[in-house]
Amino acid sequence: ELILAIETSCDETAASVIKNGVEIVSNVVSSQIESHKRFGGVVPEVASRHHVEQMTLVLEEALSQAGLEPSDLTAVAVTEGPGLVGALLIGVNAAKAFAFAHGLPLVPVHHIAGHIYANRLLTEMKFPLLTLIVSGGHTELVYMKEHGSYEVIGETRDDAAGEAYDKVARTLNMPYPGGPHIDRLAQEGEPVIDLPRSWLEPGSYDFSFSGLKSAVINTVHNATQRGETIKPEDLAASFQASVVEVLVEKTFRAAGEYNVKQVLLAGGVAANKGLRAGLEQRFSGSRFDLIIPPLSLCTDNAAMIGAAASIEYQKGKRATMALNGVPGLDLEAQ
Ligand code: ATP
Ligand code: FE
Ligand code: MG
Repeated sequence: ELILAIETSCDETAASVIKNGVEIVSNVVSSQIESHKRFGGVVPEVASRHHVEQMTLVLEEALSQAGLEPSDLTAVAVTEGPGLVGALLIGVNAAKAFAFAHGLPLVPVHHIAGHIYANRLLTEMKFPLLTLIVSGGHTELVYMKEHGSYEVIGETRDDAAGEAYDKVARTLNMPYPGGPHIDRLAQEGEPVIDLPRSWLEPGSYDFSFSGLKSAVINTVHNATQRGETIKPEDLAASFQASVVEVLVEKTFRAAGEYNVKQVLLAGGVAANKGLRAGLEQRFSGSRFDLIIPPLSLCTDNAAMIGAAASIEYQKGKRATMALNGVPGLDLEAQ
């Protein structure tokens, strides 16, 4: 089974060929970060334009790196949603055209299922399992009792973790995307500034980061007014300590309550050194098998879409030529 997968939900144009759902044959990602930097965030119109320019090149590159012809393929998979509608549509239309031209089945994939299934490219998934998804648009704890079944047991009520990182970074005058900059700075500082932890109601697996973000902004503002200086590295370390503590504790608690075998990490914020170290420390010596993917599989890519697509393909899921991009696609309905 050889699946050609396409991903264009946000600011990465990506195509990949995946063999039997587990093996990366080729994996091409064209990032637009440089074009969005001067706007301090992803501009949807700019993203769509880039996808149009890059899509064919990236697709051809994925096939040529794999040394394959379209006739060698089993199916074409594409991210249906969630994401920016104009961005999703470029990938969906490319996939439809390719599938139609070569008489291949078309498999729609949920972007977050893709982030989870990035882990399948590393190791066998053992059920029941729990995934902590932390990305630019999502912060969720997802329970899976088997392949292709998703139960969201907790999610953010306001900002996503990555969004909070990017907003705090902007307050500290760092370039977009700010997450990696805060992470680097945090390694040089000490978490000496008292910032809130948003645990929410006892037993809740939901998250909230907007209060923490406001607390950081207020801390900077108050210090400026008093003419005091705060070390940016200490502020970064304190912010990161608050984010990591809540993410790690809720994940560990959920793993116990749901009695899972495996705990997976997914999404772009999984690149965070503090989070990786925090999870490793909390889970070491526990009965849970913690899997942390390499950075290249944490950020948006099409290999993860191909890995998730293989499961959907085997289940018989197919899209027609009427497939559309769905910005708010529901994970639990998959
Ligand atoms: P979604 O998957 O929810 O649609 P997205 O695809 O835009 O969102 P990703 O590409 O998975 O999100 O991740 C991007 C986010 O990860 C950005 O917010 C970025 O700041 C954040 N990020 C990347 N590296 C780090 C890091 N080392 N520490 C913290 N955040 C990081
Ligand atoms: Fe993503
Ligand atoms: Mg992205």
